[in-house]
Amino acid sequence: MQIRRLKLSGFKSFVEPAELRIEPGLTGVVGPNGCGKSNLLEAIRWVMGESSAKSMRGGGMEDVIFAGTAQRPPRDFAEVVLSAADSQGEELEVVRRIERGAGSAYRVNGRDVRAKDVALVFADAATGAHSPALVSQGRIAAVIAAKPAERRQMLEEAAGIAGLHVRRKDAEQK
Ligand code: ATP
Ligand code: MG
Repeated sequence: MQIRRLKLSGFKSFVEPAELRIEPGLTGVVGPNGCGKSNLLEAIRWVMGESSAKSMRGGGMEDVIFAGTAQRPPRDFAEVVLSAADSQGEELEVVRRIERGAGSAYRVNGRDVRAKDVALVFADAATGAHSPALVSQGRIAAVIAAKPAERRQMLEEAAGIAGLHVRRKDAEQK
């Protein structure tokens, strides 16, 4: 899976429609504190189906909608469009939109789908909102500061074996 383009509208600090092209090779985003770098990474995770408001640094999922400033009124929706090439090189376009009071809606290649279907798209591509490929700010420090058991949990998640203990217990009981 190769992310090619990200379009944001009303998402967090990206009140005006903004487009980010990701060309092959290394892409860096630089800018002063608070300019929206982490918001971009969160937009990628959100459009892939993130359901935890906390991991989007909000109290509720509607907190991703532009909340307004002294100069600008708040928005009533947020939308993120992710364009990618899947592992077969096929074009993939995923849209997630949230409206105040109406929750999230998803589209994949122009078709209305459920959150579950979006999760499946990215599960098949071994990526997605909880992929170890997306490392958010503070996460490295959290790994260092974690208690051994918590750190093991993190490493197991990264290695994709977090479910094994449950399955082993289950097998032992049989
Ligand atoms: P740093 O270099 O400190 O990590 P950053 O570039 O990663 O900064 P972000 O954390 O992405 O910055 O952006 C934070 C900014 O986004 C803050 O100014 C915050 O007010 C703004 N922001 C977050 N959510 C919303 C929202 N719902 N509406 C408007 N602005 C928002
Ligand atoms: Mg940041």
